[in-house]
Amino acid sequence: MNKSHGDKEMPRRKMIKYGVQSAALTLIGNAAASSITAEPVKRISRKTKSGKVVVIGAGAFGGWTALFLQRKGYDVTLIDQFGPGNNQSSSGGETRVIRAFYGSQQVYFDLTLRALDLWKENEKLMKKKVLYQNGLLVFVPQEKDPSVEASIPMYKNAGLTFEKVSPADAAKHWPQVNTKDLDHVMYDKTAGYLLSREACQEVCGLFVKEGGTFLQQRVASYKTDSGKCIEVSLPGGTKVGGDEFVFAVGPWMIRLFPELSKKIRVTRQVVFYFAPPDGESDLIENKLPCWFNINQKGIVDLYGIPGNEHRGFKAAGELTDMINDKFDTYDRYYNPGELKFVQDIVANRFPKMKGRPLIEHRVCQYTETPDSDFILDRHPETKNIWVMGGGSGHGYKMGPSMGELASQIVAGEKEIHPTFALERLLK
Ligand SMILES: Cc1cc2nc3c(=O)[nH]c(=O)nc-3n(C[C@H](O)[C@H](O)[C@H](O)COP(=O)(O)OP(=O)(O)OC[C@H]3O[C@@H](n4cnc5c(N)ncnc54)[C@H](O)[C@@H]3O)c2cc1C
Repeated sequence: MNKSHGDKEMPRRKMIKYGVQSAALTLIGNAAASSITAEPVKRISRKTKSGKVVVIGAGAFGGWTALFLQRKGYDVTLIDQFGPGNNQSSSGGETRVIRAFYGSQQVYFDLTLRALDLWKENEKLMKKKVLYQNGLLVFVPQEKDPSVEASIPMYKNAGLTFEKVSPADAAKHWPQVNTKDLDHVMYDKTAGYLLSREACQEVCGLFVKEGGTFLQQRVASYKTDSGKCIEVSLPGGTKVGGDEFVFAVGPWMIRLFPELSKKIRVTRQVVFYFAPPDGESDLIENKLPCWFNINQKGIVDLYGIPGNEHRGFKAAGELTDMINDKFDTYDRYYNPGELKFVQDIVANRFPKMKGRPLIEHRVCQYTETPDSDFILDRHPETKNIWVMGGGSGHGYKMGPSMGELASQIVAGEKEIHPTFALERLLK
C-alpha cells in the first residue's frame, strides 16, 4: 500500500493535504548499522538476563516487546492506561493486513517474514486463532507499477511468489471482483490479516502467563537522576522503578516526549463496514483475499479486509487529516465526502456491493513519521529510556519482529538499526 501502508515507493493517496513541519531541535542519535535477518525461529524459553524492565504501552509494539523481554529472563512490568488493544490506540481495530509487499524496502520485507514466523509460532500458545493467511490481491490498472515491480525480486529471493494474474483469469478465480479496467492483478498468497485488538489481548495474556506483571494504569511522568531514568509515576503516587524503560506509547509519545511533536504527525483514519449482500456472501469472512486498489494515477486509494469477525465488508482509504495533539479528544465521526469516496470505489471494484448500507465505522489514528519508518532508539539524554513507535499505517503486522528486535537491543545483543534512529527526526 502507500507509505503509510508501508512503502516509501508506493504512492500515497492524499484526500486532505498537509505540510511537513521542520524540526529545530537537534538530538543525538546513536544509530549504528545492524542487519535484520530472517533468523530461524528460536526456542521460546531463553532465560539468561536479569534486571527489571518497565514497558509502557501494550499496543502492537509494547506488548510484544514486553513478552520477548520477559522470555529473556528480565523482570518485566507492562503498563497500559486503557488496556491492550484498547479503542483509542492504533492497535485497537478489528483487523490489520499482513503482507510482505513493500516495494523495494528490504528491511520491511524481512521484518514481515520474520513476523509471520513469530505470529505462527506464538498463535499456537494463544487461546484464539488470530492469523488468517487468505492472501492479498493488488488491483493494478497500469502495465507496470513501480512498487509491484520492485518487490518481485524480493519474493523470488525468499522463495515466495507474487503472481501476476491476467484480468480474465482473475475474474474466473474471483468473480466478485470487476477486473475489466485493470491491466493485471498481483496475488500474494502468503499475505492475510490479523485480528488486531484481540491479538493484543492474547499477547498480554501470554506475557502474564509467562510471569510478567501487567498494570492497567497511566504513567503520568518519569523521574531521571544523573542521566538515567529511575522510575515512572502512576496517578495516586505509586512509583514503578526499573533498570530499563521502553516507551511504546503510540501517539501519546508527543506528550511524553514533546520534542518529537515537531516531526511526528498524528492523522485521523476512518474504516467503514458495509452490509454484505443478502444470503450466502462471497465477499466476507475469508471468501476473498485482502485487497489493495491502485487507481489510474498509480496511487493505492483503498484497501479491504474480508474477514472481521462478522462485522461486514471492510473498506478504508488513507487520510492525511492531521489531528496531532487532539488525538484523544476529538469525536470519532466520518465526513460524508469520505464515505462517498469509499463507496464509489467499492461499487466499481465489487459490483455486488453497490448501494449496500453502511453498518459501522471506526476511527483511529496513525502516528506518522515523515518517512513512515518506525522509531526504535535510545532517548538521547536518558540512556536507559527506549522510544519505540511511529508505526504509521503499517506497524501492526511487525509487532512480533519489532518486539523481538527491541528486546535484543535492550539486552545489548543487537545495535540500533539506522532506519529506526531518532536522529533522523530531530536533526
Ligand atoms: C485504521 C488503521 C489501519 C491500519 N492498518 C494496518 C494494516 O493493515 N497493517 C499493519 O501492519 N498496520 C496497520 N495499521 C498501523 C498499526 O495499527 C499501528 O502502526 C500499530 O498498531 C501501532 O502500535 P503501537 O503499539 O505503536 O501504538 P498503540 O497501538 O497506539 O499503543 C500505544 C499504547 O500505549 C498506551 N499508552 C499511551 N500513553 C500511556 C501512558 N502515559 N501510560 C500508560 N499507557 C499509555 C495506550 O493506551 C496504547 O494502548 C493501521 C492503523 C490504523 C489506525
